[in-house]
Amino acid sequence: MLDKKKIKEKLEMERDTLLGELRDMGKLNSETGEWEATPEETDHPEPDQNDAADRFEDFESKSSMIRSLEPRLQNILKALKDINKESFGRCVVCKKNIEMDRLEANPAARTCKKHLEN
Ligand SMILES: [Zn+2]
Repeated sequence: MLDKKKIKEKLEMERDTLLGELRDMGKLNSETGEWEATPEETDHPEPDQNDAADRFEDFESKSSMIRSLEPRLQNILKALKDINKESFGRCVVCKKNIEMDRLEANPAARTCKKHLEN
């Protein structure tokens, strides 16, 4: 029997961790529903070129972090939405129950070990 309560707790914990990381680096654009990196605040009213380059680099690295975190967050939100459905915990390919240890490692998993997405 699938321990949905335990999985839900895990999902919520991961969601909060991811949201915390995303909030450190950017903000949610309420119009597009997408996370955007926030440029670093500058202490100098007229930053020199090096400073501008640093800030651009920082912005770029935040953007790429956000691009990798965002799909993980989406997966988790989707799993949380689907957790009470009959289909939750079943492989989308073969419809069999996903192995418990796989769900524990990745509660948002949508396939069994045999049909691993990656
Ligand atoms: Zn399968």
